[in-house]
Amino acid sequence: MSNKTAPQRGRQALLIFTDLDGTLLDHYSYSFEAAQLALEVLERLKIPWIPNTSKTLAELQPLRIQLDHSGPFVVENGAAIYIPLDHPLARFASSDETGGYAVHRFGKLRSELLAVLEPLRSRYCFTGFSELSPSSLSQLTGLTRVQAQQALQREYSEPLHWRDTDTALVDMRLEMAESGLQLLRGGRFVHLMGKHDKADALRWLAGQMDEVTTVALGDGENDIAMLRAADIPVIIRSPVHPPIQLPDRADALVTAGLGPVGWSEAVLKILSTYDSKAVADARLKE
Ligand SMILES: [Mg+2]
Repeated sequence: MSNKTAPQRGRQALLIFTDLDGTLLDHYSYSFEAAQLALEVLERLKIPWIPNTSKTLAELQPLRIQLDHSGPFVVENGAAIYIPLDHPLARFASSDETGGYAVHRFGKLRSELLAVLEPLRSRYCFTGFSELSPSSLSQLTGLTRVQAQQALQREYSEPLHWRDTDTALVDMRLEMAESGLQLLRGGRFVHLMGKHDKADALRWLAGQMDEVTTVALGDGENDIAMLRAADIPVIIRSPVHPPIQLPDRADALVTAGLGPVGWSEAVLKILSTYDSKAVADARLKE
C-alpha cells in the first residue's frame, strides 16, 4: 500500500465496485483465494460488493456461485446491470427481464458492433472474439474450454486481440468514435463497445441509494472511469503492467500487493476505518 491512508468515513454505508480479472481474480490463475478473508468480512458486515467487469453474463453466473455472490452485477464494461428480481433495486431497472434478472442496459448490441467492424478487418491487424473458437481463446488466455465458451457468449461488446501498432490503435479509435463507438484497452484485449463505461453502472447504482460511499477497485485502463467516479478509488497493482494513473485523484490508494492480495489489503484497510473490531476479529480467526 502507498503511504496514503483511507479517508475516515465513519459508519456511512459503503458500496464496493470491483473489477475481476487482475483485481479480485489473480491475473494468471484466476484465483480469488487471497481475498477470501476480506470477502468474509464484507459478508459479515453486510456490505454489498458489485462485480463490474468486462466478463459476460455467461461467465459471471458460475463465478458468482463460487464467490457466493448475491445482488446486482455489471457485465461487459458497464454495458448492462443485472439485478436479481427479488432485490429491492430490480424495480428501477428500465430495460428488460431475463433469466431471473431485471436488466438496466447502457450498451449497444453486438450485432451492431460487428457490422461496423467488418470493413476494418482489411486495414487493421486484429482478431475479434467472433473469429475465435473456444480452443483458440483458451490458448490465448489460459481459460478452460468451458470458460472460453462462456467468454465468447457476448451480448454488448467485441474484444479484439490487437496485433497492430499503438499508432494504428489510435487511428482506429478515431474511426470508431465517428460511429459512436469506443475502443478500450483491458488487461488482455481491446474492447469494442458502445459509449458507456464501468462508471455509468457505478453512478446509476449509487444514485438509487441514499448516502452511500462508493469504493472502486481496478487494475486496467478500462477501470479508470469507474475509479475516477468513486469516492474511494483503489488502484490494484498488476504483474504485467505499471499501475494505472489517475492524475486528478491524488487520493487514490495504490496497493503494494498484486491482484487479489492487493484487493484484500485495500478492502481490509478501508473496512478497518469503518468497523475496526470486525476486521481485527476476522484476522484473529485467520
Ligand atoms: Mg482487470
